[in-house]
Amino acid sequence: MSRAEFSRATRLELRDRTGGHCANPQCQRQTLVPLPDRGVIDFGNAAHMAAAAEGGPRYDAALTPEQTRAYENGVWLCPSCATFVDKLVGDYPVSLLRQWQRGAEERCRIEALTGREYDVRVDPGTVTRKTRAFLQRVRDLRMPGGRVSYPAFMRAAVIPDIERLLRDCQAMTFDHPLHAQLDVACNMQRELLDWLRHVVCLLRDPNVFWHTDDGSLHRVGWYPGLPAPRGGDAETDRLNDCILRIHQLAQELDSFASGGRIRGTW
Ligand SMILES: [Zn+2]
Repeated sequence: MSRAEFSRATRLELRDRTGGHCANPQCQRQTLVPLPDRGVIDFGNAAHMAAAAEGGPRYDAALTPEQTRAYENGVWLCPSCATFVDKLVGDYPVSLLRQWQRGAEERCRIEALTGREYDVRVDPGTVTRKTRAFLQRVRDLRMPGGRVSYPAFMRAAVIPDIERLLRDCQAMTFDHPLHAQLDVACNMQRELLDWLRHVVCLLRDPNVFWHTDDGSLHRVGWYPGLPAPRGGDAETDRLNDCILRIHQLAQELDSFASGGRIRGTW
């Protein structure tokens, strides 16, 4: 009976994508041992999710030999974990092993991107979920895109929604449903919230003048009889700068949540 073994390249890819760590999140043991002078002992296992041969653990007759020896069917494990997952098959279904490998790769990616040791409280799935929840709240604001005028902005009626989001994000602690948990993402969240705060200040400032649609100037809380307002363009520019930064930060957070690069990390 032939066994669908992994190629050397696939084995190394499984190993390198977890940084050599066992993918079991409860274990995470390093499987590479640098020897005192030179050389490395690699005692990890490129384990099959669905077994390499008929009768093996989690064998799946529906898979072709190519699919069985493919990267997608592998998980990097230390010898102890490799033994357990093959002996207690019922406790370690393919879906769980797939989750382990993905999680280990994500931990490795985040460690590399942030240059920090991984916080054991941080679960990559939770980071992604919370970042996306935060982004959804930002998208729900329906901030106008492109260059906008004050009246266009006011018509969009986003100010109460912005204020609600700012209130909800006051004193965001680690367990807050929108807290992205990783410094690199939290910093972007904080920056984005600062720009939103700035937008509200601008729009609510009774000393700021705005151009209206007909080209005249309008002041929030302006009373007839006061000196005629002057200026207005500078405020419109500032408003548009804020909006641009908010859109940029939302895009960067989205890229982060989708596994992309982060500004300034590479
Ligand atoms: Zn292990």
